[in-house]
Amino acid sequence: MTSAALTNPIFTNEDKAREHLEAIRWPNGPYCPHCGEADQAHLKRLEGKSHRPGLFQCNSCRQHFTVTVGSVFERSKIPLTKWLLGFHLMASSKRGISAHQLHRQLGITYKTAWFMAHRIREAMTPGAASKDPMGGSGKIVQADETYIGNTKRAKSYRKGLRHKRSIVALVEPQGKARVFHVKKANVETVREILVRNVDRKSELHTDESGLYVQTGKEFADHKTVKHGWNKRGVYVGPDGQTTNHVENFFGNFKKGMKGVYGFCSEQHLQRYLTEFEFRYNNRSALGVTDGERAVTALQGAEGKRLTYRQVGQDPL
Ligand SMILES: [Zn+2]
Repeated sequence: MTSAALTNPIFTNEDKAREHLEAIRWPNGPYCPHCGEADQAHLKRLEGKSHRPGLFQCNSCRQHFTVTVGSVFERSKIPLTKWLLGFHLMASSKRGISAHQLHRQLGITYKTAWFMAHRIREAMTPGAASKDPMGGSGKIVQADETYIGNTKRAKSYRKGLRHKRSIVALVEPQGKARVFHVKKANVETVREILVRNVDRKSELHTDESGLYVQTGKEFADHKTVKHGWNKRGVYVGPDGQTTNHVENFFGNFKKGMKGVYGFCSEQHLQRYLTEFEFRYNNRSALGVTDGERAVTALQGAEGKRLTYRQVGQDPL
């Protein structure tokens, strides 16, 4: 992120921050989160000293609301300016931003920063449109699996896949990715992910792993790439097939987990995958700016409040 972006008043002025959020959440004017009233004639902004800023009254159900009701910000004690900066930092940091960095940069406690980061990941969770099948006739989908160690405990554990977490990723070259934490990457779990997410008319590109041999026959075509001794090499098969996009995704994810996050419990692994998937699917190579990426994440902040409770006790 450029330093100019940080001087945006939405990060310093609470009124500007709220107006920014209102513009994102209510592009056609406010609607009542209690009864759904969207007729502006029935919605009144309450102004003056006797009301807290940003308060609306719905004349249909007589209830009050602000832009944060029904979103991850609801009932938060953290100023919206800090929330917006947190979203911006997480959306624009290619390898993520640790709770420790958020704690220092936003001037909030470490615990608060940790919960804020998880709520931002919740907002980054893809919506219903992400259930549409990937690929399609004449289109390619790359699939691959990888394993990530539990770095803090690794010393006391013997090496081997047994103690690692399995991740399966699907990537459309020049397109989007979907990434899944699975208990165990085997023929069954990999098939389940492929057939649920990829149009069977697609061409599947994988490495020569036996995990894809049988399921590959269910797709229009299945081309494989040989992995060589030099993992950093570029592998292109005789028909131009590669798994480079999915390998690049894993490479960036692992650098982020190692360099920024260091460790995450298995319980939270999917949240971190979602965060990296979000940035990948809104990457600058697809023409998305840092600011636009933050706005997309903020749009996802709506309606996420209830699902958030799984994370645990909430100090925000
Ligand atoms: Zn209402």
